[in-house]
Amino acid sequence: MLQCPTVAGVAELADAQDSGSCGVKPVEVRFLSPALLAFAREDFDAEIKPLSISSRSRWRRPSAGFALIYLDNNATTQPAEEVVSAIDESLRENWGNPSSISAGGLRARQAVEQAREQVAQLIGCSPREIIFTSGGTESCNLALSGSLGGSLGTEAAGRKVIVTTRFEHSAVRECAQELANRLVNQEAEVLWLEGGSDGVIDPKRLEDLLQRRASEIAIVSVMWANNESGVLQPIAELGSICRQYGVRFHTDATQWVGRMPTDVSSMEVDLLTMSAHKFHGPKGVGALYCRRGTVLRSAIIGGPQERNRRGGTENVTGIIGMGVAAELSQSWLSLSPNPWTHFEALRNQFEELVCAGIPNAIVLASQNRRVWNTSNIAFTNLEAEAVLINLAKHDVAASAGAACSSGSLDPSPVLLAMGIAPEIAHGAVRFSISRNTTKSEIISAAKAVIESVELLLRSMPSV
Ligand code: PLP
Repeated sequence: MLQCPTVAGVAELADAQDSGSCGVKPVEVRFLSPALLAFAREDFDAEIKPLSISSRSRWRRPSAGFALIYLDNNATTQPAEEVVSAIDESLRENWGNPSSISAGGLRARQAVEQAREQVAQLIGCSPREIIFTSGGTESCNLALSGSLGGSLGTEAAGRKVIVTTRFEHSAVRECAQELANRLVNQEAEVLWLEGGSDGVIDPKRLEDLLQRRASEIAIVSVMWANNESGVLQPIAELGSICRQYGVRFHTDATQWVGRMPTDVSSMEVDLLTMSAHKFHGPKGVGALYCRRGTVLRSAIIGGPQERNRRGGTENVTGIIGMGVAAELSQSWLSLSPNPWTHFEALRNQFEELVCAGIPNAIVLASQNRRVWNTSNIAFTNLEAEAVLINLAKHDVAASAGAACSSGSLDPSPVLLAMGIAPEIAHGAVRFSISRNTTKSEIISAAKAVIESVELLLRSMPSV
């Protein structure tokens, strides 16, 4: 955790007159602190170069649609224009059932298979290894429940132990616990891999466990990038330990895929979860990578769709949108020089500016390897919800903990599992940028955060 020093001169920002909404308009330089001014002057907003590929897969910055500085991209991302057009077109012209033997059915089947190829390319696998689902939650559930017990005739047959971590999204954490509760009479069990105080799983700890209990373990599931802190787990190492002990390995890569290059062909990962709406695709569609030879029991029983692993007529429209989003992300990730270094620097600048203005702000997990888009900043003595309400008045969107748990006043269990004290976790606000975030938005957002926190602190009698 980084406790930031006060920077002399930044106080003038707190005294600045009310400039009203700080939406996506040009930065009002006269209100800026020296730190913000220095940052504003840097030639930082390099244009992303267009690619020499088909115009549909060329990445362009979409219009936001409304005046908002959107720093909540771990909750969801804005669908790319190309995704919106493809969805619109598919609803009008490609609404056949891909299982129908008709011209419309064939057309829909072709579109689904094209999307499968686009998604497979994004993570470096064969299209046959992609199972379309309704999103990250279903993919995680399928990976876990589809691997547990039963007579799968595979390495997982009869095994009843799920190994996972307390840092996981509830799609894994709660699912693992629920599966174990349901099968408790059959001696199913969840083993929690404890992380260090930095929230990172030590591969040695996994190896020690597998040395003792590998033959009982149906699946090990560890997320790639944490949705609240951005902390990265050593997925390649964990996967290769599992392979060595003959245990299948799943990673929830919902907050990783589309943001960083992913190549499952060079890793020992058996199952990998992704979700379209985290990389500028539509909501309600995702995929599970299922390495060839990894047998899964279907979680949704019905027709033979998705090679018998997920019954139900395919969400053709969503799948088409996910395919386009995957292709766009792939083209963005292949830009040279790599584009994420620029955005990581923007994220870091945001943290520096906020900490310069708020002496008690604490950037959580700042010493860890983190995905480039995520920042979690705790404001000591404040409730995150109060900060968010004030930020909303400035048209800045962020969130407190996982989006699905906001509204609850309990501190995030994930932050507590990282060893963060409850009083700090209470004031933790997650800011998550995207490849559309600009430097001027970062400056305006930092200013809004400082003003909001100053206002809240001033209104507290004891501070
Ligand atoms: N896993 C992680 C790490 C997530 O952040 C999320 C959503 O925020 C999910 C799973 C669930 O994904 P979905 O919203 O597509 O069900």
